[in-house]
Amino acid sequence: MSYQLPKLNFAYDALEPFIDARTMEIHYSKHHQAYVDKLNAALEKHSELFEKPVEELLKNLESIPEDIRTAVRNHGGGHFNHSFFWEVLCPLKDTKPVDSLPELKTAIEAGFGNFEDFKQEFLKVGLSHFGSGWAWLSKNKDKKLLIHSLLNQDSPLSQGLTPIFGVDLWEHAYYLKYQNRRQEYLENIWQVVNWQKVLENLKK
Ligand code: MN
Repeated sequence: MSYQLPKLNFAYDALEPFIDARTMEIHYSKHHQAYVDKLNAALEKHSELFEKPVEELLKNLESIPEDIRTAVRNHGGGHFNHSFFWEVLCPLKDTKPVDSLPELKTAIEAGFGNFEDFKQEFLKVGLSHFGSGWAWLSKNKDKKLLIHSLLNQDSPLSQGLTPIFGVDLWEHAYYLKYQNRRQEYLENIWQVVNWQKVLENLKK
């Protein structure tokens, strides 16, 4: 048993023009695949860990054998984060407005005032993050929502947080289409968010 690339729920070109087909193809079939392959290679030395879902590995990094802990943090994180990312995205035609999901709307308003302020705060965090990493909307143990960023492939799961929504800030996620224009990428991503999935994550 080894970890596998999850099936993508949409075609490579389904998020056009906000995320281009070439970026989706390389991101999923090369970058994500590489995280899966490197996680599998690292775990060969401790194959009993293959029985655990990757979420369990990331929630308990301190219990992972030291010789593979960094590999699990980086590649296990990469595998989980990307699997999560594909699920919170969907084609524009399939998106549902947040207004039609009252439970989600109420939670966002309770956390950030209103939906516009939430988007502005998320943009600010995404833009000010230096280097590679992810911007996250997470829930803490007290069920409070927070927007934060993490470096590289570090996962909210390893910080005791539940991820609700996240955006990949690595240049490989946007450079082909947007080059240095991270702001444009972050503003366009709202067009292809699967808010129904975000709500499911909130209820976990
Ligand atoms: Mn990525």
